[in-house]
Amino acid sequence: MAHYDLIIIGTGAGGGTLACKLAPSGRSILILERGDYIPKEKDNWDTQAVFLDAKYKAKEHWLDKNGKLFHPGIHYCVGGNTKVYGSALLRMRDRDFEELTHHGGTSPAWPISYSELEPYYTQAENLYHVHGQRGTDPTEPPASAPYAYAPLPHEPRIQELYDDMKAMDLNPFPLPIGVRMGNGKEGDAPITLDRFDGFPDPSEAKADSHVVAIKSALQYDNVTLLTNSYVDRLITEPNGKTVKEVVVKTGEEQTTYSANIVVVACGAINSAALLLRSANDRHPTGLANSSDVVGRHYMAHNNSALLALSRKPNPTLFGKTLGLNDFYFGSDDFEYPLGHIQMLGKSDALMYKEDAPGFAPGLALDYVAKHSLDFWLTSEDLPDPNNRITLGKDGRLQLHYTENNLEGHHRLIKKLRWILEHVGCEPHLLPNNLYLGKKIPVAGTAHQCGTIRFGKDPSASALNEFCRAHDIQNLYVVDGSFFPSSSAVNPGLTIMAQALRVGDYLLDQVL
Ligand SMILES: Cc1cc2nc3c(=O)[nH]c(=O)nc-3n(C[C@H](O)[C@H](O)[C@H](O)COP(=O)(O)OP(=O)(O)OC[C@H]3O[C@@H](n4cnc5c(N)ncnc54)[C@H](O)[C@@H]3O)c2cc1C
Repeated sequence: MAHYDLIIIGTGAGGGTLACKLAPSGRSILILERGDYIPKEKDNWDTQAVFLDAKYKAKEHWLDKNGKLFHPGIHYCVGGNTKVYGSALLRMRDRDFEELTHHGGTSPAWPISYSELEPYYTQAENLYHVHGQRGTDPTEPPASAPYAYAPLPHEPRIQELYDDMKAMDLNPFPLPIGVRMGNGKEGDAPITLDRFDGFPDPSEAKADSHVVAIKSALQYDNVTLLTNSYVDRLITEPNGKTVKEVVVKTGEEQTTYSANIVVVACGAINSAALLLRSANDRHPTGLANSSDVVGRHYMAHNNSALLALSRKPNPTLFGKTLGLNDFYFGSDDFEYPLGHIQMLGKSDALMYKEDAPGFAPGLALDYVAKHSLDFWLTSEDLPDPNNRITLGKDGRLQLHYTENNLEGHHRLIKKLRWILEHVGCEPHLLPNNLYLGKKIPVAGTAHQCGTIRFGKDPSASALNEFCRAHDIQNLYVVDGSFFPSSSAVNPGLTIMAQALRVGDYLLDQVL
């Protein structure tokens, strides 16, 4: 059995970033990824292939809480879900790390403060080429350094929207986006951003964890990546205190590997599933689960993808340059948090095909596409122990999810509708269900988090503040699982920052 200093399972925002951080250490690192590389091909930018045929989505179905099958919006590939993400990389607000009262209940405090994660946010922003501008977002937390990359310019229709919002005394800001715009050397072709959100990027301008992190990790001889390698379970020593083997299935073949340190980074749903699948005599309810939290408190945000109809045509190619946080913590008429608004990648007529004809009666879909302004709204959902992942007897995953804390989200949609009346748009919003990947809320797993929460109290959390399992000394979980609460910003940058923090800890104290 091959032995390594460290095994990392998963190549997404968490696993990829950690691999990149640890690669220069010279330690032997094995990265196991169940998916393969997404090929660079025309279909990468094809709406039919990407959205309607779901070409790059996982080919599996899960059960919802009622035992009904659904197709989750999840991607198994090198880079994980960052391969298709919109790369909007925002920091959580400092108050998000504290207990926060919502209309629907309490969002719990994190075991670390914002200031403990701050240096790693800066590192993550630099690593992922985040373009932004400090001092423009009214809720933005303090930062120790300016963005290393200037904000992306708005295209003309988005600039108009920005100006109209400013005229309403709102505070739109340049959305922080992770994108590699080229090194400016003579001879480089200029980069035109277009298809982005939801699409893989064959030009590799999008700063995803494959392009930014895994590729640089693989430049080191001490790092090995095995693709198409599904980790089936983890086996502990008889005393249950350390993981001694990682069991991998590659097609029909089964192989085991061992390592001093095992890092699970399969994404919040699959990491919980792996720990639950690995139950044994010492851990009868799943590995690292003496607290009974593994698989519980699943969160995915209250999200809406909405189209506004601009009275003027909107020929924008890349609209994802504007964010709005004026209602993040509340509004003049509501004392609880509402959430965050950002632009979504520009939609096209094919995206609405499934929702027609009820979608926009009387309007040609092409007209809608030429006039749409595309928005993405995110509000916090709260950790409910009954929102959880379980496994059936046949190992099939069941995702029990009931939406909560919706009042703030509904009010956020109303606020956007009110804004539209002042920014040259029709006053109604149309759903872009296809982008959201969900006709039913449970299928929208893009912002999954919370299933293996970290905390100081081992009876109420599975991981300590450096994401090490309380129960198992060589097991770490470094992906969206550790979130005790979901905040209302996209989760990617926080996952990357914590991976860098855990990486520092491993280098200083463990490896
Ligand atoms: C369409 C879309 C748009 C998004 N836009 C944004 C955005 O703009 N900003 C943002 O911050 N976030 C965005 N997100 C969310 C973001 O992509 C995720 O939060 C992030 O990728 C999660 O990182 P992770 O490490 O937890 O998991 P993932 O990135 O999902 O990585 C998990 C990896 O583990 C692998 N894996 C799973 N199970 C196993 C197993 N048993 N054995 C081996 N390997 C396994 C998977 O194949 C995958 O590569 C978006 C997501 C989607 C789907």
